[in-house]
Amino acid sequence: MKDKLDLLSMTIEELESLLLETGHKKFHAKQIFQWTHKGIKDIDGMTNLSKELRNQLKEIAYINRLEIVKKLVSNIDGTVKYLFKLIDGSVIESVLMKYQHGYSVCISSQVGCRMGCRFCASTGIGFVRNLAPGEILDQIISIQTDVKQRIGNVVIMGIGEPLDNYDNVVKFLRLVNHKDGLNIGARHISVSTCGLVPKILELSKENIPVTLSISLHAPNDSIRDKIMPVNKRYSIDKLIEACKIYTETTNRRITFEYALIEGVNDSKDNALELAGLLKGMLCHVNLIPVNTVDGAGFRRSSKETIAKFKDILEKYGIETTVRRELGSDINAACGQLRRGFMDEKRN
Ligand code: SAH
Repeated sequence: MKDKLDLLSMTIEELESLLLETGHKKFHAKQIFQWTHKGIKDIDGMTNLSKELRNQLKEIAYINRLEIVKKLVSNIDGTVKYLFKLIDGSVIESVLMKYQHGYSVCISSQVGCRMGCRFCASTGIGFVRNLAPGEILDQIISIQTDVKQRIGNVVIMGIGEPLDNYDNVVKFLRLVNHKDGLNIGARHISVSTCGLVPKILELSKENIPVTLSISLHAPNDSIRDKIMPVNKRYSIDKLIEACKIYTETTNRRITFEYALIEGVNDSKDNALELAGLLKGMLCHVNLIPVNTVDGAGFRRSSKETIAKFKDILEKYGIETTVRRELGSDINAACGQLRRGFMDEKRN
């Protein structure tokens, strides 16, 4: 498939050029786009195209569908964790969550990650490659086909750093947003980043006002330097400044993720410092009891510590929620399933 075109990664405009180049009418682009985004598995199924066009397409292009290799359903809350195999044998994971307002998926943007956050399960795996736009998109299409329900919300919070795969992620955002595709609006999409400042600024200018979720996890540089190597490149001040610009340009409220780690970032002083840092910003804080990852040596803060931390932030007027844990019986968080799967393969 290496030298064939990946139809799922192509925009309608790119499909139009391809059709014109091969001597066909460009209106077929919309038909091809609709079929691929509906989840069709092979080009022969595009029944409103002539046989000749389908045959020609098969010679130059393919549909890069992901293969479901494992599916785990939580007995507690119905969360479903999918492990997908990619065309080169790599594996990624995605999670389907059901909320009162509908279905939401958490998707991956890379195979592995290069950011090296100390508490994260993806760190031990290393980096393999970026996902293509269609591979990011097909996590949603395949899940939608599997559960036969419309997915209304997307968070790019699975494996990988989305802004480290910027071009493909932005192309994915345009594809998923398209009225002839899944038609999921920017307001229903969150991009989570560890804080690649120049890319945050670039994203603010793309005219796709997605919710930006910042993995902050520390109120100052000395703590953040220790747990997130990216902070040595872009300090907290620079990150907060970029967030303010993002909010001004897009009018969107920023979400700050803060994983509470016992004795590392969960003291009363840490909460006060965080409140000072975020004062006056249009934002929301999500507190997450850190998920323990083998070998990382971090423990989650107690319920009482978390409650106190939340109280302090709220006292200073910062809207705060403690993130509800979904799928805790199926390792639905943070690269843990893929890690388990890779370990199984190694042993
Ligand atoms: N690279 C992106 C998105 C993937 S990580 C980012 O950094 O935001 C998704 C979220 O899970 C991030 O907020 C990340 O910091 C958090 N996370 C990673 N490992 C975790 C752990 N062990 N416990 C709790 N949250 C974790």
